[in-house]
Amino acid sequence: MSTLWLVATPIGNLGDLAPRAVEVLASVALVCCEDTRRTGKLLQHAGIRAERLAVCNEHTEFDRIGEVLDVLASGRGVAVVSDAGTPGISDPGERLVAAAIEAGHVVSAVPGPAAATMAVTISGFVSGRYVYEGFLPRKGRDRAARLADVAAEHRTVVLYEAPHRIERTLADLLDVCGPDRAVAVSRELTKLHEETVRGTLGSLDIGEPRGEYVIVLGPVEPAVDEATDDAVRSLLVEAIGRGASTRDAATSVAEQTGRRRRDVYQLAVDLDV
Ligand code: SAM
Repeated sequence: MSTLWLVATPIGNLGDLAPRAVEVLASVALVCCEDTRRTGKLLQHAGIRAERLAVCNEHTEFDRIGEVLDVLASGRGVAVVSDAGTPGISDPGERLVAAAIEAGHVVSAVPGPAAATMAVTISGFVSGRYVYEGFLPRKGRDRAARLADVAAEHRTVVLYEAPHRIERTLADLLDVCGPDRAVAVSRELTKLHEETVRGTLGSLDIGEPRGEYVIVLGPVEPAVDEATDDAVRSLLVEAIGRGASTRDAATSVAEQTGRRRRDVYQLAVDLDV
């Protein structure tokens, strides 16, 4: 049975092309790529002469399905690569995968670079559970709805952005998430000028936008449970029992619980102890 291979390619540093990626690209009958010139250069760098290259981008992926299935049916392998990183991750690939599965072919991958995984793992945020959001919709209700989802997300969130839209997207995120949301913005990953700026949405300064960006937002912190009136009363009783005045007990219990001092003082006065 023949295989459709999704082959990850470098996101900037050619040294990240895996030896197995080279093997697969050299062995298949057809390499589907977004841009033949760009992939041609990569193949040249790896010393491979591919049997055949075919353009497969967001506009042509669907039309390429018949041809890919024919090659697979003839018993030969097909590889899918994108301009950079992992095919299918905000790049063409998923429609070919679905069609190959549907036709009963084997689908596999040569895993490798993906800007999202690199950025989330170096962000410093919880990486055991994260949400990949890719590019936000450009405008309108779709954008507003997605921004609202991101603002309420209790897991780490990963977003992609282009240099000419990064400032506007960070400004929109600041609007919906507030200034205290933690963020790490990475650019030029694996390249000479790789940089990750960490901070909060309210304080972040990414400088002059340059290169491709990944935005990683820390999760919404769970709200600290406010102490109930009953819990405050028992702490007040304890403090007063130890000899504190009503005023001092109110001050220390307010500090302990995060409740407003004025409210705690009123509860202390009402205690009637
Ligand atoms: N399939 C790719 C992957 O696996 O990461 C993503 C392709 S998507 C069309 C391109 C976006 O990925 C860029 O706009 C940027 O957000 C992100 N990206 C790709 N390479 C990057 C890099 N070296 N540094 C930072 N972000 C990068």
